[in-house]
Amino acid sequence: MLKEEQSLIFEVTKEGRVGYSLPELDVPELDLDDLLPAGFKREEPAELPEVSELDIMRHYTALSKRNHGIDSGFYPLGSCTMKYNPKINEAVARFPGFANIHPLQDESTVQGAMALMYDLQEHLVEITGMDEITLQPAAGAHGEWTALMMIRAFHESNGDHHRTKVIVPDSAHGTNPASATVAGYDTVTVKTNEKGLVDLEDLKSVVGDDTAALMLTNPNTLGLFEEDIVEMAKIVHGVGGKLYYDGANLNAVMSKARPGDMGFDAVHLNLHKTFTGPHGGGGPGSGPVGVHKDLAPFLPKPVLVKKDDVYTFEYNRPQSIGRVKPFYGNFGINVRAYTYIRSMGPDGLKAVTENAVLNANYMMRKLEPYFDLPYTQHCKHEFVLSGRRQKQLGVRTLDMAKRLLDFGYHPPTIYFPLNVEEGMMIEPTETESKETLDAFIDAMIQIAKEVEENPEIVQTAPHTTVVSRLDETRAARNPVLRYTKA
Ligand SMILES: *Cc1c(COP(=O)(O)O)cnc(C)c1O
Repeated sequence: MLKEEQSLIFEVTKEGRVGYSLPELDVPELDLDDLLPAGFKREEPAELPEVSELDIMRHYTALSKRNHGIDSGFYPLGSCTMKYNPKINEAVARFPGFANIHPLQDESTVQGAMALMYDLQEHLVEITGMDEITLQPAAGAHGEWTALMMIRAFHESNGDHHRTKVIVPDSAHGTNPASATVAGYDTVTVKTNEKGLVDLEDLKSVVGDDTAALMLTNPNTLGLFEEDIVEMAKIVHGVGGKLYYDGANLNAVMSKARPGDMGFDAVHLNLHKTFTGPHGGGGPGSGPVGVHKDLAPFLPKPVLVKKDDVYTFEYNRPQSIGRVKPFYGNFGINVRAYTYIRSMGPDGLKAVTENAVLNANYMMRKLEPYFDLPYTQHCKHEFVLSGRRQKQLGVRTLDMAKRLLDFGYHPPTIYFPLNVEEGMMIEPTETESKETLDAFIDAMIQIAKEVEENPEIVQTAPHTTVVSRLDETRAARNPVLRYTKA
């Protein structure tokens, strides 16, 4: 139920009230009939709220306060890397020379923007250890698909038409099997062993001359580093398959290890995670793909090149898989990532990785006495708890996630990965202070105690939010397209 002072904007409307004050018109009013062809006009005026300017401002300010965002509170959403978005990134992305250019401008007039993209590519090549890179893909999943299309083109160029299978461990991110399917492959799942890592015996039993690639999420979705990568590379390359690295969460390994050095043929990065682009709500992302030189001829075109100190887009790439995004990716996100890399420097990026891993391990060890920890070795940037113990007392992980809202926290990712019962996937990130980590740990411990002493308060949470528990899927299945007065 909504409280009175939190009425819908349609409920506070007063006929004739307007949200602006302007001097009276001293020129003839335009007749809309002259401008719009008849068939395009509304039959009745739109039913819009009529409110004062102050009321509308307060309405939106109040709405914004009900939302969880990284600028308003701790947001430990595992796998999503909800870290601080430095405000200098925003300032640079708004430089008129970046914000006001048009993608169809002549190359000679946008050399600065092209230089930034070229330099960003060089940095990402260095960070990943790959040979070449494209900035075109608009998100992580888009990068996965782009890389698989390149791998397919590579195999076909060798007359290798029988490679129909992509191997995906069950601890991979959910987008991996989805991208493989969209790229036209059959997905083969390999199991996780008791240590939470890819089971090598199972891998050996599924590879063959029909293997196109192995997609490895590393660290995997349990937050664990895959220790047997060299062996995996041998197994997959041994049958002629390609190795794909899901590097969305590079803040776990950046400046410490490079996918290129581990023998990977392709990797995607999420600039809207590790490299501080704001994300969520479907906003623009960037999922560049780096490749080993064997795959470079198949990169999406155009390819950004530098010839005699002039930047240009090269279209004459006969083996390219074609274009995967209009223009050259989401430029604004690339400006932010470039600003971040330049402002951090190599030592800063190394500290990012160290702190991301330290914070996750600190939190994991503090919470270990209160929740089940299915995999007990050190984690990387995130860890997964199980709510098994609490479930035996009648409280589900969903209830605990709702209870966290009462403490002002966005809950972690829950019920993922699928192989952990009542899972909670927590990613503190490197940008949070020890005080923030401790406060969240205290909230989790209090909830664990409530489960034992007063489970009902958790089962009926949240208690402090504007709306209580909602039907999780109804809004998506039955969207309200038009407000009608009751
Ligand atoms: C977030 C994520 C993806 C998908 O990235 P999107 O930009 O959401 O498409 C893929 N893999 C991993 C490991 C991720 O964390």
